Amino acid sequence: MPVSKIEGDLAPNFIKQTTLNKFCPSIPEPEVPSVERELNQEKAHEFDNQYSIRLELDGTVEIEETHCYNCHRRLVYNGYNERIAFLDKGLGRYEFRLHRKRCPVCGEINPDYSAFFPKYGTYHENYKRRARQNYMEELMPSQIAKVFQVDFDLKIARSTIVYWINEIQEEIRYLLATTPIPSSGYWGYDEIHLRISGERMYAIDTIDVNTGFVPIARISSEMGRDAGREVLMEGRKNL
Ligand SMILES: [Zn+2]
Repeated sequence: MPVSKIEGDLAPNFIKQTTLNKFCPSIPEPEVPSVERELNQEKAHEFDNQYSIRLELDGTVEIEETHCYNCHRRLVYNGYNERIAFLDKGLGRYEFRLHRKRCPVCGEINPDYSAFFPKYGTYHENYKRRARQNYMEELMPSQIAKVFQVDFDLKIARSTIVYWINEIQEEIRYLLATTPIPSSGYWGYDEIHLRISGERMYAIDTIDVNTGFVPIARISSEMGRDAGREVLMEGRKNL
């Protein structure tokens, strides 16, 4: 269907053939050179880690190579990218400038910058680890933000900390599920009287007398031998 000028103006969509089969005659011819270029760029990524980088005194990170490893053409400069990195253990906030280079055929050169800053990130991996560990120690994200402020003079948004914690939850689940319960086989047993919304209840706890680990804790409406036995048997099942 031919596209009239007014339709073309109203719908500023750039139409491009994605395959070499010409199904729709009104769409322009596929650009063969661009397919070639895309394949070339994919192949060029295999060489990303081979490029060496150098830090200049003014904070500019330069790519040392002058020629493309994939097609051996001369690289051209491609402007600057500003990057901020928060270094490990409160060593400060640094501003870098990446001097980008581009191959006329293979496109942007993406060397491994991880010596300066993590991929796609600003904060050193250590901050993420600390945030997750603090969370496991029962600190809430807003409290963890205060810890970073006090320890490292670093203001990290609460939402960033929540994101870091959520990022790891699948792995933590797996880790906890496959970690054996630290039990020595000698358990103590305790009943605590509670009053929950006016009703008398009991917290039945077991505690490993050697490791201090609590294998199981239950709130029960009954106490005594039978309720205790039930809790202990359930704890044994988890071993
Ligand atoms: Zn190239």
